[in-house]
Amino acid sequence: MSNDRHQGSARGGGQPAVIAIDGPAASGKGTLAKRLAAHFRYAHLDTGKLYRGVGVAVLRSGGDPSDAAAAERAARSLDAAGLDDARLRTAEAGAAASKVAAHPGVRAALLALQRDFARRPPGGAAGAVLDGRDIGTVICPDAPTKLFVTASVEARAERRLKELQASGAAAIYAAVLQDLIERDHRDSTRSAAPLKPAEDAIVLDTTHLDADATFAAAIAAMTSRNT
Ligand code: C5P
Repeated sequence: MSNDRHQGSARGGGQPAVIAIDGPAASGKGTLAKRLAAHFRYAHLDTGKLYRGVGVAVLRSGGDPSDAAAAERAARSLDAAGLDDARLRTAEAGAAASKVAAHPGVRAALLALQRDFARRPPGGAAGAVLDGRDIGTVICPDAPTKLFVTASVEARAERRLKELQASGAAAIYAAVLQDLIERDHRDSTRSAAPLKPAEDAIVLDTTHLDADATFAAAIAAMTSRNT
């Protein structure tokens, strides 16, 4: 598997290489991001965690994630080092995240942190992989490699159900499906940085692909486009 841009290290010793990955919830983008980061030895940022952290902080303080002022306050005081909390992975946190994420002030508060990660990947890594909803469109519009990972909502609901059950949570398919439909709708119709592929993104439909096949398809597409 060869890829001129990512094989080796930072381009010309200058800017780090950036892989921007976007897509809806449970599309397989997070797993793909981790695999690509390990493969190229790049740093990885799951940007959804930032929004989940803000959503959970608002809930903890007894606030409402739809309240723009409360959400923006939480975003400005977010402790990016404290995002390994198990509560962040719950469906409740996902729903709160997609509500706080619709406020432009929240997105603005999290912008610099994400761009800094891409510009100066931690640990001296030669590049960065960021995954989220607006990485290729807003955070890193100049990223040479942009992937948009998607899958049918039913396939995504099956995957999310298995993840929740594996973590010991009680979950039923119909509720998980409904949650994803609502989140997709909120994420795609909001006016601030709606979920959509960048014009130059490689679109990967993972409905019938497992994690290995998704990784292989991403590498093949990147190699053929030499991005
Ligand atoms: O990816 P994850 O499911 O953890 O994201 C949770 C929510 O955070 C998404 O539904 C979306 O509303 C928001 N988000 C976003 N922009 C990103 C990453 C996540 O708006 N870059």
